[in-house]
Amino acid sequence: MRKTLYVKFIIAYLIFWTFGFVVVSLFVPNMTRERLINEKANSLYSEAVLIADTDAANLYSGDTSLEEAKHILDSVAVFLNSEIMIINPSGRVILDTSSAIDVDNPVIIEGFDSAVVSKSYYTTGNFFDTFETDVLTVLAPIAADYKVNGYVVINSSMNDIETSTIGMLNISYMTMAVIFLLSLIVLYFFTEMVYIPLKKITKATEQYANGNMHYTFEVDSSDEIGYLAASLSYMAGELASYEDDQKKFVANVSHDFRSPLTSIRGYLEAMLDGTIPAEMHEKYIGIVLNETERLTKLTNSLLTLNNLNTKGMLLDLSDFDINAVIRSVAATFEGRCIEKNINLELVLTGEELFVRADKSKIEQVLYNLTDNAMKFSNKDSVIKIETTEKKNKLFVSVKDSGIGIPKEDLKLIWDRFYKSDSSRGKDKKGTGLGLSIVKEIINAHNENINVISTPGEGSEFIFSLSESEDERDEE
Ligand code: ADP
Repeated sequence: MRKTLYVKFIIAYLIFWTFGFVVVSLFVPNMTRERLINEKANSLYSEAVLIADTDAANLYSGDTSLEEAKHILDSVAVFLNSEIMIINPSGRVILDTSSAIDVDNPVIIEGFDSAVVSKSYYTTGNFFDTFETDVLTVLAPIAADYKVNGYVVINSSMNDIETSTIGMLNISYMTMAVIFLLSLIVLYFFTEMVYIPLKKITKATEQYANGNMHYTFEVDSSDEIGYLAASLSYMAGELASYEDDQKKFVANVSHDFRSPLTSIRGYLEAMLDGTIPAEMHEKYIGIVLNETERLTKLTNSLLTLNNLNTKGMLLDLSDFDINAVIRSVAATFEGRCIEKNINLELVLTGEELFVRADKSKIEQVLYNLTDNAMKFSNKDSVIKIETTEKKNKLFVSVKDSGIGIPKEDLKLIWDRFYKSDSSRGKDKKGTGLGLSIVKEIINAHNENINVISTPGEGSEFIFSLSESEDERDEE
């Protein structure tokens, strides 16, 4: 398939030039010949008319003798490289520059008929068998008193015209040959700019189709083909990294499922075979229960992430009061607040503040952020949820004074399954999926989320939301 494009182009190219040459060699020679004959006939006819009006007319009126007229016309004939005749309407030659005057043996042109030039002012041929080769003949009547006395006939050899025609044709053919050679540049550009890049692209697609997503290729041009190649290469890169992510994801999921399952199994076996005595069962069943809770949480988070991914960016947008949502999320943490003696402080803008977003997903964001703040806060501390309005945007901040996040971890916390080492002690049940979910939801809203954190002092997560249209109109 790849070869045919090139072959097709070459065939089209050759067809174009063959037609070009055929058309030129069919029409150009005739046209050139016609034109040269016309030009020559034109100038000869002017001469003939001039002679008919002057020297020939004088001859018939008796003002010039036959010898004098012959003398004059001889030099004109030499100048024109032609033969000049004066012929009576009957065909009798009165004067001929190619032979001497011989009154006693007059030459008669058999069948002479002035109508031979009736269609135009010239004709070609052997002029009533007078010549052995073809000549160009022009004929001008010598008239006096509304009567035609005779004709001035100028015959010129066709050889000159044929030679000029060949000369001019050679110029045309040479020009065509030069253009043909120059047009090879087009072929070169086609090869370099279209064919070779296309070949590279086709080879790359074959590699990608065979699953070799890491195959790289380069097309160094900034036109549509370059763009196509760059897009293809980008697409393959994305697919490759998607594939890598998938593998990493599955590995992480398996690992996170395996460790609680291993400990559950270990404890249950130990209880069964008596390694753990009956009086300790309650404690270990509690641990097993904790592990199953962790598995449930992990499964739920995975399902949420999967839904976010598969449903793409399908958001159920509505206008709702963010203050009410913050209050209700805060209320769910009441029990844990009392347990850890944490003061959950709400600093909200206005009584009600309407935003346009997917309510249940924003609830999830608030829940995950507050849950993290709780998990990583020390006892007897404060968690502050604050809203700030700025240019039709609402910024929601969840701030704790807990363990904080090391600088090197700040970029990684959004990755799936990422849990910083420092957090492991505080949060054994964490899945490392909470912030990935948060980020996906905020990105789906075309909004932003940022974190400011100092280890040992605390962290602040701030995300933006768009105010609803009504809220904007009020301003
Ligand atoms: P997890 O379910 O393990 O909390 P997240 O994705 O929510 O998973 O968080 C990822 C990691 O980010 C946590 O393990 C922790 O190291 C860090 N982190 C998140 N929130 C906080 C916070 N408020 N304070 C300190 N560390 C945090």
